Amino acid sequence: MKAIIFDFNRTLYDPDQGSFVKGAVDSLQKLKEEKFLLFLIGKGTNERANLINELGLHRYFDEIIVKEEKEIEDFRYLKKKYPDADFYVFGDRVKKEIRFGNECGFKTIWFKNGKFASEAPENDQEKPWKTIEDYEELEMALK
Ligand SMILES: [Mg+2]
Repeated sequence: MKAIIFDFNRTLYDPDQGSFVKGAVDSLQKLKEEKFLLFLIGKGTNERANLINELGLHRYFDEIIVKEEKEIEDFRYLKKKYPDADFYVFGDRVKKEIRFGNECGFKTIWFKNGKFASEAPENDQEKPWKTIEDYEELEMALK
């Protein structure tokens, strides 16, 4: 079974526009239909957790974790809970979710767009398995 851990800010949601990133909801819908396990690990406080609720994201995700600071333990926890899943991580920060995903042995996909598109990997741990710039490329990247 394939499982994808999504980042929230600037991956699913564009805080500058105050709306979903283009193509994000269609992809979630499709992945859900294809029986992917979907997880969200987001950085933030109650305010962000409330926003995630208001956006109706609970209908897509099997589990949502929102914490003030993301830690590798959050990724390890999911691996432990779903030991048979084949994990992917999808996010816009090579220094955060891509690094943690790599350290867990997951397949990492860097969403190179927006504010952190120029924040390049500085070591092997930060190097993504694949890089995409648009949701249209996500399905292909998961193959
Ligand atoms: Mg992000």
